[in-house]
Amino acid sequence: MEEKTGRPPVFSKFKFWHTIRNIMSNFTKNIIWSLVTLIVISLVFSSLIESGTTKPKEININELVAKINAGEVKTIVISGESIKVTLSDGTEAKSKKEAESGFTETLKNLAVDQAALQKVQLEIEEPSGWQFWAGILIPTLLPVIFIGAIFWLMFRQARTGVNQAFNFGRSGVRLSNLAKEKITFNDVAGCKEAKEELMEVVEFLKSPKKFLELGARIPRGVLLVGMPGTGKTLLARAVAGEANVPFFNISASEFVEMFVGVGASRTRDAFAVAKRAAPAILFVDEIDAVGRQRGAGMGGGNDEREQTLNQILVELDGFDRDTKIIVLAATNRPDILDPALLRPGRFDRRVVIDMPDIKDREEILKIHVRGKPLSPKVDLKKIAVRTPGFSGADLANLTNESAILAARKNQKIIEQEDLYSSIEKVILGPERKNRIISVKEKEITAYHEGGHALVAASLKDSDPVHKVSIVSRGTAGGYTMKLPLEEQHLRTKTQFLNDLAVMLAGMIAEKVQFNDISTGASSDLKEASALARKMITKYGMSEVLGPLTFGKTDELIFLGREISSEKNYSEKVAEKIDEEVKNFITRSYETAKKIIVSNKKALASVAKALIERETLEQEDFYSIIKPFKIKPVSV
Ligand code: ADP
Ligand code: ZN
Ligand code: MG
Repeated sequence: MEEKTGRPPVFSKFKFWHTIRNIMSNFTKNIIWSLVTLIVISLVFSSLIESGTTKPKEININELVAKINAGEVKTIVISGESIKVTLSDGTEAKSKKEAESGFTETLKNLAVDQAALQKVQLEIEEPSGWQFWAGILIPTLLPVIFIGAIFWLMFRQARTGVNQAFNFGRSGVRLSNLAKEKITFNDVAGCKEAKEELMEVVEFLKSPKKFLELGARIPRGVLLVGMPGTGKTLLARAVAGEANVPFFNISASEFVEMFVGVGASRTRDAFAVAKRAAPAILFVDEIDAVGRQRGAGMGGGNDEREQTLNQILVELDGFDRDTKIIVLAATNRPDILDPALLRPGRFDRRVVIDMPDIKDREEILKIHVRGKPLSPKVDLKKIAVRTPGFSGADLANLTNESAILAARKNQKIIEQEDLYSSIEKVILGPERKNRIISVKEKEITAYHEGGHALVAASLKDSDPVHKVSIVSRGTAGGYTMKLPLEEQHLRTKTQFLNDLAVMLAGMIAEKVQFNDISTGASSDLKEASALARKMITKYGMSEVLGPLTFGKTDELIFLGREISSEKNYSEKVAEKIDEEVKNFITRSYETAKKIIVSNKKALASVAKALIERETLEQEDFYSIIKPFKIKPVSV
């Protein structure tokens, strides 16, 4: 079963306006801030200048002369143009004189009484106090300070705010605080296989020397593949927590911004930051945002994305043999990634994180009810049974909703009822509607996968079934995993025919059981047709057409994908090929159908077990079909 979950494209236009709006709102905010600062500054200065609380009264120079003549003046202090006068009764006054002319000169001109003037204490103060300088500097400096403040505030806000328009080249790499919130594998339920694979990474980070001494090449990139909410980010953090190394976190979608070149320089920064802290984990979330296949000339390349992607490749290649950084990347669309990213030495390891099955769901629920007071009557298993299709994030959300619900009802503890009601709330939430599997769907999937597994187990020389599951894996709704006993490089025609029969078995099982076919079989059919065609045109396995290859394909070897295929045979041959494809498919179809029809009971048992347990390991599966004594069939 296959089901693609597309993510909505990033609307860069929207993003652009959004950013502009942010800048504008910041701008007005900054203006207000700056005005406030200006007012405060000028108030402070003016209060400093006029520090005296009792303002001296202003008198003009003529009055001053009159007062001197009358003998009312005690002291006069001249500083620049201003004159400070202290009268005999202690009160102060001030006056002004012309800048150029001398003070005594002026007084003389105004016919001051020389004898009276003698009695006055006359002091001349150099006008070099801070007041003088302030008088000159404030008017010139203030606007500069004012403008400077505006810019400073603007840049600061731009950097810390939602938009990062002025944040050129800074990576925005975040270091999560490990000491505060250390996450380990114990906080991640399920994901057994993923954890096992990641344990290797942990070991390397813990004691890199051990590996380096043996000349081992360190894994550089690990791609975490899984549906949204299955715990990719959580696992990445747990790896850092287990190894006790810093965890740096960047999101590739943040790289794709409005300015070309920003993504690339941020990537460079992020790697540099992580390298300085090595050993460390650098986590690149949503790598598909930049890691889509390049080139191919379709729809025009997004330069920014390509540059960012190239930079990531450059950084990965630039690691020394003993750089102790491991780059973990997360995606839910591994199919669209550029093959260059997946080459050896880059993200050559892939860890698939499945949707949780019934057992995992119970475990996840257990983790998330930690610290929440539960009624002793709560049975988390029953909740797990009712939540097929829920991701870890959904389950976390569910427990949270139940706590909110209980609180709103003024309960002290969470009841089973609250958990049940929260299931609906999460399902009806905007995101999950399409993922939840109905009872009917679950049954169809169980028969479909059961069909694959049963046929695989019944065919002579077929690879043994390792695992059957109706839990969606990656983008598929369910899966049957069969692995060859030994590593194989050559496959025979019989094996291919077996493969075809197994591929078609899902659809046949649906048809036999429900007399109907679902869309879940479409990718099986596509794959089967492609395989049959390849057998004929590439491997010369058709007796009718003989040992020839047909069609010329140009493969870009280093990209590992076909870019064009050319038809170099006649229409007549094309017709024959189509006919042979049909023959092969029909032959395999009949074989598979025979197996399923004659083993309906076995199929029903497998399906029933799948509905109950969702995942069957190899031993479980074989012990279920054992009592039915299935006869091996050859194609
Ligand atoms: P992804 O990165 O795959 O979209 P996250 O790692 O962000 O998903 O998961 C979101 C949240 O869901 C986590 O913070 C955690 O609370 C919860 N969660 C997901 N998977 C698990 C799990 N296996 N065990 C426990 N909690 C999980
Ligand atoms: Zn299938
Ligand atoms: Mg995530």
